[in-house]
Amino acid sequence: MNKSEFSRRDTMKMLGLSGSAGLLGLFGGISDAKAREEKGVPDYARGMKPVKIKSVKAIATAPQGSNLIVVKVETTEPGLYGLGCATFTQRAAVVIVAINTYLNEFCVGKDVDNIEDMWQSAYVSSYWRNGPVLNNALSGLDQALWDIKGKRAGMPLHQLLGGKARFAVPCYTHANGRTPEEVIESVKKIQEQGYKYIRIQQGGYGAVGSTDQKPDFKAAGFGGETDNFMNERTYLKAIPELFAAVRKGCGEEVELLHDIHERVQPMDAINMIKKLEEYRPFFIEDPFSPENMKWFKQLRASTTVPLAMGELFNNINEFLEPMANQWFDYIRIHVSQIGGVTPAMKVARLGEWFNIKTAWHGPGDVSPVGHSAHAHIDLAVWNFGIQEAVQFNEKTLEVFSGCPTMKNGYMSVNEVPGIGVDINEKEAAKYPITTKSNWQVRKFDGTSIRP
Ligand code: MG
Repeated sequence: MNKSEFSRRDTMKMLGLSGSAGLLGLFGGISDAKAREEKGVPDYARGMKPVKIKSVKAIATAPQGSNLIVVKVETTEPGLYGLGCATFTQRAAVVIVAINTYLNEFCVGKDVDNIEDMWQSAYVSSYWRNGPVLNNALSGLDQALWDIKGKRAGMPLHQLLGGKARFAVPCYTHANGRTPEEVIESVKKIQEQGYKYIRIQQGGYGAVGSTDQKPDFKAAGFGGETDNFMNERTYLKAIPELFAAVRKGCGEEVELLHDIHERVQPMDAINMIKKLEEYRPFFIEDPFSPENMKWFKQLRASTTVPLAMGELFNNINEFLEPMANQWFDYIRIHVSQIGGVTPAMKVARLGEWFNIKTAWHGPGDVSPVGHSAHAHIDLAVWNFGIQEAVQFNEKTLEVFSGCPTMKNGYMSVNEVPGIGVDINEKEAAKYPITTKSNWQVRKFDGTSIRP
C-alpha cells in the first residue's frame, strides 16, 4: 500500500464514510446525510445539503404610508425562503424592476450558502455599480440570504454574527413640536415610556413649516406648488434655544439628539454645533451633505460634540476616509441601501478599530424585516452605539409577523431562526405603493437646498 492510498482510506475511515458517499463528500463538496446517519455521525456533524435559489421577487406594500419593498428568495428546498429589506421609498417602482428582472435572472440556480460570493458577484454583475436602486436590490438579496442561512442553521441572525453582546437594543425616538414648549411636552411623554435617548426637532427638518413667512420664490411663481421653504436663519437661531429650553425643562439625565439633515451651509452648521456644546448632545446628525465631507476636518477641530453621519452614503467605501480620520463618532448606515448585512458588518467592525459606534438609520421607510436585521446586528457587535426606534401600526402588524418589539426604550427581536420576520403576501397586496415621493426644499429666492 503506498502512502497516498493509505491516507485516502484513513481519511474515509475518520469521516465514517465509504465508497461513493465518501468520494462525493470529499471531492464534490456534497455531504451524504443518510450515509453519515447510518455510521452514527451525530446531527451537528452532518453538514447541510445543498440548496439552490429558485426565484427572487419583490413584494411591494405600504401599510404605514411609506413604500416598502421586501425581497423574497425562494429555494429548491420546499418551504424554505428568505426575506430581506430593499426599501427605497422615493423610487420604489424602479427597485422592483431591478429585483424581478435583473436580480432574479442573476440568482436563479445559484447556491444559497455563499453570501459573500453572491454579494461580490451581484455587485459587479451590472458593471456600473454603487448607486441607489441596485444597492437596494442587493440589500434585499443579502438580507434574504442571511435569513435563509439562519433558518438552515436553526439560529437567529445575531447568533450567526457571534451571539449577543447585550440583552436588548437601546433606542432613541423622536420628539417634535412647533415650539420649544411643545417639544418639552413631547420629551416628557416619551420619557414616561422609558426612553433614555430622545431626538429633538422643531418644525420638522430644518424647521421647515415653522415660520409664517412667505418666501419670495412663491410670490414670483418659481418652483412647484408644493415646494417647501426653509429659512436657514430661523433654524440656526431656533435649535440652540430649543436645546437650552429642553435641558431646563427636562433635566440633565436625558440624552438628547438632533438631526441637522444637511441643509445649512458648512460654516453655519459648525457655528451652530459649537453653541450646542454646553447642552451636551448625545450626537448631532448629518451636519453636511455628502458632497461636503472635507468640512468635517474643520468641524472636528472646532467642537467636541459627538457627530453621526452616513445615511446618504451609497456604498461602504465612502466610510473609509472619514472613519480612518475619526471625523465622526456614529455610523449612520441605511442598511437597506448600502447592500445589506454583509457590508454593514464590515463597516461596524472597522468602527471597532477607531472607537466609532453604530447608529443604523431606522426610519418609517424601512420594512420590519430591515428593522429586525438592524436589531440582530445591534445585539451582536461590541461597538453598538444606539438604534432608531420603531413603531408599527396595526396594518403593518397584519402584513408582517414576528416584528421587533419595543419596551422601556429597548428593542427586542424574537429568537426564531433567521431574521425572524415573515410577510403575509395577501395582506401586503391590500396596501399598494405609490409613486408620489418627491421632496423639494428651497431657500427664500428659490434655490434648491441639498439634504
Ligand atoms: Mg438623518
